[in-house]
Amino acid sequence: MVPVTDIEALALVLGGAAVLVLAGRALSLRHREARNGALVSVDERSGSGPLLRSNQYRISGRPDELRRLPDGRLVPIEFKSRKSPRYGVPRSHRIQVAAYCLLVEEATGTAPPFGVVRYGDGGEARIPWDRATRDELLDVRAAIGRPYDGRATPSVARCTHCPWRDGCDARAV
Ligand code: SF4
Repeated sequence: MVPVTDIEALALVLGGAAVLVLAGRALSLRHREARNGALVSVDERSGSGPLLRSNQYRISGRPDELRRLPDGRLVPIEFKSRKSPRYGVPRSHRIQVAAYCLLVEEATGTAPPFGVVRYGDGGEARIPWDRATRDELLDVRAAIGRPYDGRATPSVARCTHCPWRDGCDARAV
């Protein structure tokens, strides 16, 4: 039998560990995908996501992904390239996901139970689509509907994907 050197043994151990890490990652990804439902559509940058529009609230948007839960309800997913925020989901991210929940509800007639924001490092957070979130969203919507008071910071990058563009008189594009 050929003797195994220390280096070869170490390489075998490291190789085995790498396989285990990859398998663990794949498993956790599968669990997460199962929790968030089956993929229905993706944004046009990578596929063919639908543009959702609410004439009542004058908002529109295209969630990065739509997923279908086993009970048929759709869940919007928003991707952020940045790392998971250290101090919780910023309000702007929460409101954006809430806006997509409202759009999904308007488009399908069925409220999603939650929306999801997913960060570049794989972390994600669920935003429950409940009364409190809806009230917060509609407060923001009402504030944006008031005449422009100079507090907005419009920019092409910021406004291009903003769900409030339809009803915002300060938008840059
Ligand atoms: S200024 Fe731009 S980013 Fe701000 S609400 Fe209006 S469209 Fe959205």
